[in-house]
Amino acid sequence: MSHRLIKKELQSAFSNPGKVIIMKYFNIKNREHKVSFREALTKSISSDKGLYMPAVIPVFEKDFFDRMPEMDFCEIAYEVSAKFIGDEIPLTDLKKICDEAFNFPVILRKLDDRKYVLELFHGPTAAFKDFGARFMSQCFRYFAGMNEKKTVVLVATSGDTGGAIANSFLGIEGVDVVILYPSGKVSAVQEQQLTTQGQNIYALEVKGTFDDCQAMVKSAFTRFDTQGKVSLTSANSINIARLIPQSFYYYFAVSRMKDFLPAISVPCGNFGNITGAMLAWKTGLNIGRFIVSTNINRVVPDYLRSGSYIPRKSILTIANAMDVGDPSNFDRMTELFDNNLGNINSMVSGYWYDDDLIRRHIGEVYRKYGYILDPHGSVASMGLDDYLAKNRNSAGLFVETAHPAKFCDIVEPVIGKHIAVPDSLKILPESVKNSVLVEPEYNSLEDYLKNKYL
Ligand SMILES: *Cc1c(COP(=O)(O)O)cnc(C)c1O
Repeated sequence: MSHRLIKKELQSAFSNPGKVIIMKYFNIKNREHKVSFREALTKSISSDKGLYMPAVIPVFEKDFFDRMPEMDFCEIAYEVSAKFIGDEIPLTDLKKICDEAFNFPVILRKLDDRKYVLELFHGPTAAFKDFGARFMSQCFRYFAGMNEKKTVVLVATSGDTGGAIANSFLGIEGVDVVILYPSGKVSAVQEQQLTTQGQNIYALEVKGTFDDCQAMVKSAFTRFDTQGKVSLTSANSINIARLIPQSFYYYFAVSRMKDFLPAISVPCGNFGNITGAMLAWKTGLNIGRFIVSTNINRVVPDYLRSGSYIPRKSILTIANAMDVGDPSNFDRMTELFDNNLGNINSMVSGYWYDDDLIRRHIGEVYRKYGYILDPHGSVASMGLDDYLAKNRNSAGLFVETAHPAKFCDIVEPVIGKHIAVPDSLKILPESVKNSVLVEPEYNSLEDYLKNKYL
């Protein structure tokens, strides 16, 4: 179904608040297969492994864009989510979801006349994953009241995602979270975030790699028989309830850059963050250009040049949250451009950088602006610079996705200065690690789940 055909009808529905709208999501592998927001939230992915997308991308009315500069972040989040979710969650509940989820600042800073930075690391785990994780957990909390069974969320993590999920789902009724992480391969702060929460958050320390953790979780979805006692779900980055909130801060930022048609440079790994920006653009938000900035895991910048998408094994870098060789949101991104390379290239540029350049640029930006980048933000900042150098009349923003203190062992030697650590990243001496050490095999996860839930 074409997005354009139904835009008009939907637009009039939005300006006519009496009309009930149920937003549907379609499976991009099978367009006829449509589900509700609740089903897309709880299933995450269809049984044929298709990603869900809004069946209709509403074009927002001009009045909304006119009012935006006066609205605060939570007000923008609330209005945008209402348009994407429709009447499945009553507006008063949606307002509560947004207020609970986004109880931390979003900051747009000006570095110079053409260059802004959008700081997304002021949440409780100091990375932008907090936006998606917190919105999703609040949606689960809302629907949990209607479920008879407990929901068990399984997450495999290399560090950051698990921390954001653990923090966001702590104390959410009707939901347990079981996190699998590779033993000895996460930082001390990350391990603290994963293993010391207590309550409904459980950690399995796997004697293996992140890939082992992910394989165990994947097997559980196909092999574990819940006997109808619990429902099993995942909180990975492809969940639509993580994608939608990743559009909110682009509305916020663009509304604060009124006089520009900004280029937006995003440090990309699984391409969820930039897909959020593209979704916002489809609704009518003024964005001049998307800049895909990556580390040497460069499959998408290569695709933009050659037109062929060739997934590879991921390579380790110092911007490690972007070490992805086959981005899970790639199909969503191309879908938003009707799977047409010409359309994509008319709006998207791509650049990639190696570790030496990432380090060097952290130093350059510190000396030029006194601003401290983390390695991921460094990649995005370089992407914006390279684009602006070729487009002299443009201005733009780059996205800073993590607090530099999370990567102090890389950043401090470059800038020759100690970085103050935010409270949320401090190691608390009194916190007690609570995790179960398991073999890197599916059977050990199955035994754990059986003992706990059957
Ligand atoms: C996850 C992450 C990214 C990559 O985001 P995607 O949505 O996967 O493209 C970039 N920076 C940081 C700090 C992250 O945690």
